[in-house]
Order: sequence, then C-alpha cells, then structure tokens
Amino acid sequence: MRAIAQRVHLHTSRLYRSLIRAGLTCRSDRFFDTLAITVPGGSDSVMAAAVREGYNLRRLDNQTIGISLDETTTEADLQALARILNVELVEGDVEPQLSQGSCRNDTILTQEVFHRYRSETEMMRYLRRLSEMDIALDRAMIPLGSCTMKLNAASELTPVTWPQFNAIHPLAPADQCQGYRKMIDQLEAMLCEVTGYDAVSLQPNAGSQGEYAGLLAIKAYHESRGEHDRDICLIPSSAHGTNPASAQMANMQVVVVKCDDHGNVDLDDLDQKIATYGQRVAAIMITYPSTHGVFEAGVTAVCEKIHAVGGQVYIDGANLNALVGVAKPGHFGGDVSHLNLHKTFCIPHGGGGPGVGPVGVRAHLAPFLPRDGVNPERVGPMIAAAPFGSAGILPISWMYIQMMGGAGLRRATQVAILSANYIAHRLKAYYPILYTGNRGLVAHECILDTRPMEKDGHVGVDDIAKRLIDYGFHAPTMSFPVGGTLMIEPTESESLAELDRFCRAMILIHGEYVQVRDGVWPADNNPLHNAPHTLDSILAEETQLAYPRRLALCPDPEASTAVKYIPPVGRIDNVYGDRNLVCACPPVSNYESVEETELTPAMVP
Ligand SMILES: *Cc1c(COP(=O)(O)O)cnc(C)c1O
Repeated sequence: MRAIAQRVHLHTSRLYRSLIRAGLTCRSDRFFDTLAITVPGGSDSVMAAAVREGYNLRRLDNQTIGISLDETTTEADLQALARILNVELVEGDVEPQLSQGSCRNDTILTQEVFHRYRSETEMMRYLRRLSEMDIALDRAMIPLGSCTMKLNAASELTPVTWPQFNAIHPLAPADQCQGYRKMIDQLEAMLCEVTGYDAVSLQPNAGSQGEYAGLLAIKAYHESRGEHDRDICLIPSSAHGTNPASAQMANMQVVVVKCDDHGNVDLDDLDQKIATYGQRVAAIMITYPSTHGVFEAGVTAVCEKIHAVGGQVYIDGANLNALVGVAKPGHFGGDVSHLNLHKTFCIPHGGGGPGVGPVGVRAHLAPFLPRDGVNPERVGPMIAAAPFGSAGILPISWMYIQMMGGAGLRRATQVAILSANYIAHRLKAYYPILYTGNRGLVAHECILDTRPMEKDGHVGVDDIAKRLIDYGFHAPTMSFPVGGTLMIEPTESESLAELDRFCRAMILIHGEYVQVRDGVWPADNNPLHNAPHTLDSILAEETQLAYPRRLALCPDPEASTAVKYIPPVGRIDNVYGDRNLVCACPPVSNYESVEETELTPAMVP
C-alpha cells in the first residue's frame, strides 16, 4: 500500500514539475494525488481536448481544471495529459513533492491478520473460514421482518460486474452516459407504473433519504402556495423509526397518532389531532401495509381526512413487497412514497452495502424532487452528491422487473403474502399472532407475541432468537415494532420445504419452553437459556447440562448433522454495552508529554 501511494504521488509530482517548467501555475505546491491547474487558454478548451484523447478532467472554474491520478495511471496516461495541457513531460524520476516531514512514518496494519495469510491458498481458506461463521442466505432463510431478505439472483447481479456499468464516473458528462440514461428513464417509468405515481427520482441512497427528499418536496409545495405555517407531521405510533427522524430533519414537528387495539391508526385520535392542528398539518406519514404487517382497512379514509385539511399523505413504501402488482399507493391516496430497491427490488442489503430509496410523487410535487441536471423541471435540493445516487446498482432492479414482468411481479407478491400467512397459520397455536386484519389474515409479515412466555416461563424473546441459531436460522426481527415480540417476513423466495423447516424449529422451541415452564429443566439451565450452543460450551469438562448434548447441538431430529451450522460464539448480553459505556480513548496520561499548546480538540479524550 505504501508502494502504491508513493507511486501515485511520484506520478503527480512528475506532472506538476512538467507544468511548472512550462510556466503554468497550480493552486498549491502541496498535494498528494490531485492538482488544481490554472489554464490560460480557459478550462473549456482543455476539457474538450481531454475528451478527444479519452479523458474527463474536472472543471473547477473558467480558468482552473482539476486532475487526479491513481494507481491505475500509466506512463501513456501521463504522456496524454502532457499533450492535452500542451507541455513537455519531464523525463525520468523526480523528487517527491511532499516533504518527509508531512508523510506518515509510523508502522501501519500491524495487526496479525494483515500478515498471517501470505499465499493464495491461505487467503482462500481464511475467507472460507470467515463465511463459515455466518448464517447467510446461502445457508438458510433470513426471516427478518420489515427487511425483505429475498433472493438477489445471480442474473440480476451480473450486469453490475460489466465495465459498461461500473467503470463510469457518477459525474461523467451527460453525452457519455446515454446508455445509463436510457436504463434510468426506463426504471423510473417502470417504478411509476408499479406505484401509480407520476414521477420518480432515483437519487436517494436509502429509504430514509427517500423519506427526507419526499418531506422536503411536501414542504416546498406548501411554501410555493404561501402556506408557510404547515409544520406538523402526523406519525402513527407503529411507524418505522426513520419516519420521525426524517420529519425532524425536514424541520417538521412530529405529532404521534395512536393505534387501536388491532394495531390500526386510531381514527378518533386522528380526528382529534387534525382538529387541534388544522391548517398546521403538513403531512401524515403512514406505512401500508402497516409496520404491524396488516392491510389497514381504513387507509383511504386516513388519506381523505388529511387531504380535507390541505395536508399531504406520505406513504412509506418500504413494505411494497406486499403491494407490487396488486395495489398502487399513488392511487389509493398517497402523494409521495419512497421505495426500497434494496428490499423489494432485489438489491443485496445484508451487511450494509449501498442502497437505493427512490422517491415517487404525484404530478403536483414533481417540480420539488431533487435536481439532477437532466430533468429541468426538478428544482429541489440535491440530497446526494451524485445526480442518480447509487446508479451502479440500478441494473439489479431493472433486471428483476424485466425478468419478472407484470404477471411475475404480481405472482411474487401473492406468494410472499401466502408464505407469511402460511407461517402465521401454522404457528398461531403456539405463538399468538399479535395483529391480523379483519379476516384473520396478515400481509407479507407477521408478529408472533412471545411476551406471555416471558411471564409464565421466563423464556424471553432473546432466548428464542438465540435458540433459532442452534436450529440453523438467522433470528427474525426482535422487539420491533412491538417490544418483546418477533416479526417474521419469509418473502416469496423461500420454498415450502424451508418454510416447514422454520415452522418445525419454532414448534420444537415452543416444546422446549413448555418443559421450562413446567419445571422439567431449571430456569437457568435449559436449551433456551444456554443458546446458542458453541462446541466449546458443549465439550468443556465443567459443562453440566440438564439436557442431552445432542439436544443442545442438533435439536432438530430431521435435520442432517453433517451440515450443521456451528455458532462460533456464545451469547453476549446485548444491551450491556449500551448501558455500560466504556471509553476506549487513550488515558489522559498519554498526552502528558505533549505541550499543552499543541493539544487540538481531536486529541482531547
Ligand atoms: C427499511 C425501512 C425504512 C428505511 O429504509 P433504509 O433504507 O434502511 O433507510 C423505512 N421504513 C420502513 C417501513 C422500512 O422497513
């Protein structure tokens, strides 16, 4: 890495020397890899000359251009840049422009892991060992509710690896991105068709950013009509945490609307809040189907009530996996929604890769979408640095929609809803389903109420989640949106066999709970309390289990022990760290030798 950095800097120094020798000036003589060069002939002619040679430079102003070099820069690149700038390239080695004093000289990457694997064989096995420790989608279903952990098909991901998509700069000139534009336009049109909205911006990089962009559009719309006092955002108590956070960022005041016993928006409370705030209501943010996993029968009534006082309806579309091809938020009352392409539309998102949270709006809000330099009517503030956000991963969603087609998308929604109802139906005798619609059905996910088990058996939601690991499953969503419960979303990607394997695990776990409740196993020595079981915990001499080792490690009698997932770590106390803050900063004494005047704020622990 040091060699790479030195090489990049020497290339840049050589270009710099060549420019100075030719009488050009740079903004600074201190640089690493980037030069800002004053070009007497004007930036535009230099930029044009660069494009003719196959390079994009950065235009800083009329007279200044920016050039960055990196580890892919070759001698031929330097020669071409010299030609473009009309200078003679200095031959041979030059001195680095950065003085030794400004370079880092301490040792880096000293941790053993950076030095232990010195052959490809070793590296390959290291990576394999790391993946062995994960419960990922290549091993079992990930039933995380509200997360839509569906298949990310290989054929959807393949185009992302093509240089035509991944070797282009996000800010490349428009005439070099015609293909991208075509894909973006088509994807926007397909998402309009799916949602029933008139315009979609792909700029937001996350669902939460889509919320922010949508609320800014609502605000700008009100202001364009002279309604500057609309500052209230109504949000039902079941909302995803990002909703109130986004409303606050958009400078709105959050007013919480209650939910009734069935988990639906409490219409009486809504009426009261509307009566209290009237013309101050800017918007309501609702999720449909609700975060409780239910299609709320009153959704159109909610939308009408808000519209009647001049407010706008934001429908959180992160649960679109229950709607695609079946219902359109833009048609049943929404003015604006975000979608999560990294949920419903197959972009991978476990582990926190880039996301896309497009925001869709009805026509009256379209002018207030984030500006992107391509749609001249959009004049809202940019909410990401690049006009089309994480454009490099859009081929995934484009492929998904194209390959599925309208009928396929509807079928996926139907199967996702069917799968969730199948699980709810099979498990409801063991775990009460917290919320259902008026026909006893759920949407694409369901909430299992495990709170009674805590009360009479001291088996908590954590115990069940950890025990699922012994059965080879990733835990469902815990304690969201209701504390002490599990929310399960199977998606359309799971086969009946996998759904059955999951249900069997949950039913067996319930059986274990019964044994704890009935005193067969002690409350502090049972498979649930001790889960997940590592090999170490089983093999240790001092381990005294009140139950058979086989039950601890391989509890599902129908599952093969040959491919058993073995948890690499036992249980930790999840919230201990949150409640017992430990400062990892170096102690103040470390700074004793430093003169007091040299202490910068960043150094003060
Ligand atoms: C996931 C989710 C969000 C937030 O999306 P991010 O991309 O994580 O910012 C918002 N609302 C709901 C209902 C969600 O499930």
